[in-house]
Amino acid sequence: MMNFDTVIHSGTIATADWVCKGDIGIKDGKIVAISENIPGGERRIDAGGRLVMPGGIEAHAHIAQESSSGVMGADDYLSGSVSAAFGGNSSFIPFAAQHRGQSVDDVIATYDARAARSVLDYSYHLIISDPNEAVLHDQLPRAFGRGITSFKVFMTYDMMNLGDGGMLDILSVARAHGAITMVHAENNDMVKWMNRRLAEKGLTAPKYHAISRPELAEEEAINRAIQLAKLVDAPLFIVHVSTAGGAEIVRREKFNGTKLFAETCASYLALTRADLDRPGMEGAKYICSPPLRDAAAQAALWHHVQMGTFESVSSDHAPYRYDETGKFLNGTEVAYPKIANGMPGIAARLPYLFSEGVVKGRITLEQFVALGSTNAAKTFGCASKGRIAPGMDADIAIWNPEVRRSVTLAQQHDNMDYTPYEGMELTGVPEIVMTRGAVIVENGELKAREGQGRFFARQPADLRARPGFTAPEFDPAQNFGAVLR
Ligand SMILES: [Zn+2]
Repeated sequence: MMNFDTVIHSGTIATADWVCKGDIGIKDGKIVAISENIPGGERRIDAGGRLVMPGGIEAHAHIAQESSSGVMGADDYLSGSVSAAFGGNSSFIPFAAQHRGQSVDDVIATYDARAARSVLDYSYHLIISDPNEAVLHDQLPRAFGRGITSFKVFMTYDMMNLGDGGMLDILSVARAHGAITMVHAENNDMVKWMNRRLAEKGLTAPKYHAISRPELAEEEAINRAIQLAKLVDAPLFIVHVSTAGGAEIVRREKFNGTKLFAETCASYLALTRADLDRPGMEGAKYICSPPLRDAAAQAALWHHVQMGTFESVSSDHAPYRYDETGKFLNGTEVAYPKIANGMPGIAARLPYLFSEGVVKGRITLEQFVALGSTNAAKTFGCASKGRIAPGMDADIAIWNPEVRRSVTLAQQHDNMDYTPYEGMELTGVPEIVMTRGAVIVENGELKAREGQGRFFARQPADLRARPGFTAPEFDPAQNFGAVLR
């Protein structure tokens, strides 16, 4: 008989595909047995009928990252990973951001040093802002060789925006090496034009941030990003879709077979632009890009979550404190374009999605697991994470689906001085969280040791059942035999 390190018994196991009662045997950090009844185990964890699910994979978080304007986020890899762990996550994939002039090798070395404090297993998405020849043909392939198989680019922000030609360069290099390109899609010139117009009229309060970045700017850029990716048949991931129109374009293009993936974020489901209209400067807490939208957009996004338009619901945790180290680095009485963009939420993502999604009957438990963990594993090539199956890492979260609590800043474990989810009543709490078989959170207490998380190498995205698209100009048969790929 096998001698297990840990047996989780008497739980209801929930995966992206099925839910059933059963036990899980863990040995050397891996799931090695799933059965009706598993005896033994050095430690036996009584799940007592609670839900035993894959630990969350947070695929969109900014941890120990400087913004393009040089503001360092409030969370380092210790506070960020601890906060994520309390929110039911077993691993995460924050960004490693290249600033112009910096080599990708330097970027990775910098983030390796920062990530050494993590309690969660981690990988990085690279942010590329300077796709020069050395980056495209030497440094990116080397990063890919190390298992960093996703690159993010921006269509907005003057310091980051690559232009359509730069996007095509990145997309074709990513495709050649089996990487997926993530894109922040907003039309930069539409936003800048709106900023000028609002400034001329003296409309600079935080609430005007929502107006300065029109829904059309997102829709136009999502459509353009998809057409660019289709030209070279490269896999594309649209981050933080915030509009009904954007989601509808994603749905249509997926149906066409495009190698397309997308997420929305809990913040767009939970909050609206009305939050930007709080008294004084308090709306600054809710400034993020793309901005929060209205209740109609929120309802449409929920519908797309239900119907499967999105692979994931992420947090886009981008923690800037409500003080002069964060939001108000440029002063406290500044116009909205000078306020740092971003909101915290890495701990609220899964509890919010569980409570408003599963408990309120909008999505199934299986969808919850897929949106919070399994799909991110497939999209971002986390081969041994995000599933409960023999051979997988024992990254597991045990949830009490009935506990009800109201979110307060005092419960948070990040380095923030506010939570945008303050006062929300949520049902369901992750009570035990494990990474590779080690309990890291148990009944509200941190059991992890600083630095116990490990970097994990990733595979290319799972492109099965996504036939892709061949532009006629890239089809030798239709193009005088020319091979352009
Ligand atoms: Zn982000």
